[in-house]
Amino acid sequence: MGTSNISDTSVHSNTGRHYDYSPGHRALEIVAIALCLAMLGELSWRLIMAIVAAPGLASMGWLVGAALVGYLCADLASGIVHWLADRFGSPETPILGQAFVHPFREHHTFPKKILEHDFVEVNGNNCVAMLLFLVPMQFVLPAALSGAYVGLASFTVTFSLGIFLTNQFHQWAHASEVGPVVKVLQRSRLVLSPEAHDRHHTLPYESDYCITSGWMNPLLERINLFGNIEKLLNHKGPEPYVPPTAEEQPSAE
Ligand SMILES: [Zn+2]
Ligand SMILES: [Zn+2]
Repeated sequence: MGTSNISDTSVHSNTGRHYDYSPGHRALEIVAIALCLAMLGELSWRLIMAIVAAPGLASMGWLVGAALVGYLCADLASGIVHWLADRFGSPETPILGQAFVHPFREHHTFPKKILEHDFVEVNGNNCVAMLLFLVPMQFVLPAALSGAYVGLASFTVTFSLGIFLTNQFHQWAHASEVGPVVKVLQRSRLVLSPEAHDRHHTLPYESDYCITSGWMNPLLERINLFGNIEKLLNHKGPEPYVPPTAEEQPSAE
């Protein structure tokens, strides 16, 4: 998912790293990350309390089943958003072109550039979007969870966490080296693995759009969901990519 924010303002973060967007947007991203973490932490606590109050197969069934569905839905959502940005519009499209389409298209040409972004830049925009879901859910879910509400809360946590961290998982999939914990997560396929994501970064960049866990990709490719929708819409998509030469490709590590 795209992480670049277009602005005239360039800022240096505390770590000395450079990012290319306004301090105002940076502040918004930091607040959104903090709010998402607080809400997810509080909701997870409510879930623990619900299981402690009513331990048993029914509660555990709601908890685990809905958690799985939530994580799968996050992966599917990542695929839909990625497909739309890769295949529709152009960087010149008004409003969404520079902010949304451009980062995805640029990522195909310079995949290692994502490694230049710090945690806030990688995850901030997704957290801002997640607040549109998480805030209303605070009003939908009761203080004491039980029955199907355990399922709804569990779905909310894994779906939100999956969307929150999609770009993080995507960034890790491009890193030449990751920590031992991330390596275990990737090898167990709990998060997007570099091998699975490599299939997307292969010309013509028209498969394996899901980038949270990548679990949905085999099914979506089997039924050719996105290809069939494009066929139905008689959609041609952007001009085929011309990969950059070795000289054009920066080694951003
Ligand atoms: Zn792509
Ligand atoms: Zn990628």
